[in-house]
Amino acid sequence: MSNKQRPSALIMLFGATGDLAKRKLYPSLYRLYKKGRITERFAVVGVARRPLTNEEFQKHVKDSILTHIGENTEIDQFASHFYYHSHDVTNTQSYRDLKTLAEQLDEKYSLEGNRLFYLAMAPEFFGTIAEHLKSEGLTDTRGYKRLVIEKPFGHNFESAQKLNDRIRTAFAEDEIYRIDHYLGKEMVQNIEVIRFANAIFEPLWNNRYISNIQVTSSETLGVEERGRYYETSGALRDMVQNHMLQMVALLAMEPPIRLTTEEIRSEKVRVLRSLRAMSKEEVNEYFVRGQYGAGEVNGEDVVGYRNELNVDPESNTETYVAGKLMIDNFRWAGVPFYIRTGKRMAAKSTKIVVQFKDIPMNLYYNPAEPLQPNLLIIHIQPEEGITLHLNAKKSGKSSTIIPVRLNFANKSVDRMNTPEAYEKLLYDSMRGDATNFTHWDEVALSWKFVDVISDVWENTKEKSFPNYPAGSMGPKCADELLQKDGNFWWDVEKFVIETC
Ligand code: NAP
Repeated sequence: MSNKQRPSALIMLFGATGDLAKRKLYPSLYRLYKKGRITERFAVVGVARRPLTNEEFQKHVKDSILTHIGENTEIDQFASHFYYHSHDVTNTQSYRDLKTLAEQLDEKYSLEGNRLFYLAMAPEFFGTIAEHLKSEGLTDTRGYKRLVIEKPFGHNFESAQKLNDRIRTAFAEDEIYRIDHYLGKEMVQNIEVIRFANAIFEPLWNNRYISNIQVTSSETLGVEERGRYYETSGALRDMVQNHMLQMVALLAMEPPIRLTTEEIRSEKVRVLRSLRAMSKEEVNEYFVRGQYGAGEVNGEDVVGYRNELNVDPESNTETYVAGKLMIDNFRWAGVPFYIRTGKRMAAKSTKIVVQFKDIPMNLYYNPAEPLQPNLLIIHIQPEEGITLHLNAKKSGKSSTIIPVRLNFANKSVDRMNTPEAYEKLLYDSMRGDATNFTHWDEVALSWKFVDVISDVWENTKEKSFPNYPAGSMGPKCADELLQKDGNFWWDVEKFVIETC
């Protein structure tokens, strides 16, 4: 592996004692270390307010790895690279101490001045941290400097723009890595490969052959202890503005002229620019919302959203969104992209269903058993793979046509768990590959699209809430949204890949 593939870096992790760091970041760094993707030339400075010694912090890191990976070879050697700095991010003096520590570690581990600032903290601190990093000289380094930020990036277009302006005082756009952890998922990255490396799909990938595309991302979990945050967010901001629109952009974009960050982004941006804008009056024609009531999930009774911790008993917040997106360009004119996402649904699953148009003349017409349309299913999670639904003759004398499925299951091929999204994203940010992070142009366009919807929804109380029971696939209005076009949601719960 070249040095570019095994980059040296000082990772300054703000929010080092938090949930994200513990569950995702430490296990991901450990896996990268074990695979030799990061060498001994790395150091992590954990930053948070509570007082901890380096030893206590290292124990915290080791515990998290044991809990989440269950393995501990070379763990002491790995953890010895971790240092802790107790620091309130609003305290200017403390950044100077951080700078001194960074310089010492740079020297000790030959890090060539490379610095990755990872903000695993509440977004209201992002602007302050970036400004202090600049004013106190931490960004003044001879190596690269990069800022990795968690979602949410703003609350609407206006707040996102203000935040961006503050961050840009310290970092150039190409130094900012805005995480969308969906983009780190193996099968999301695979969308491009399926489309652009197979001669059989791309010629059909347009309005002549595709009837509609459905993207479903459902969760069985409720809001858990995140009620306070969720009340200000809802499914639209939490899922649609970022993950759902990113998946649509990847599905709909033109083939980039090269597989570079810039070319792929510019094609995604063109999709977002082609999204049909809605007037306020049209919002409810294209988008519907839901909120879960009490119900049963995985055999257990669960409370409705309004009875969750830190949730207003009269809450107007949506926990479910379904929408129809129209992409007004030559390739997609007339093809609806349906998206739906929600909490407390019947299954935890993210799937894309590409429904092809019916064949022009059906030689096997049988009103009792109509031919099934061809479907391409891209399974994003929990299983990863693709399934192609075709029609074939049932073996034997009868001329019955039966639907058959061709499966490719990622896990059954390499028999290993595919790497966690965070592992990929961390590695990419260290190597300077920003392809799977979101550019400001994408963030801005997505917010502008979503803002129209949230504006209408926040100003009209939804009287039907709660309108779907926990453990179902969402409210009736979501079915009606498709019925208006003569379509229906495919029952994605049944689309499982058989792994043998
Ligand atoms: P969290 O568990 O609440 O952790 C927050 C961290 O920030 C803690 O380490 C806390 O440590 C530190 N902190 C708070 N105020 C501080 C201050 N003034 N100065 C210095 N440190 C301070 O949050 P989280 O769940 O890890 O989430 C972090 C970010 O990731 C958020 O933007 C969230 O939206 C995003 N995110 C999280 C997840 C997830 O799975 N958790 C998934 C996707 C995105 P002290 O109390 O010791 O200061």
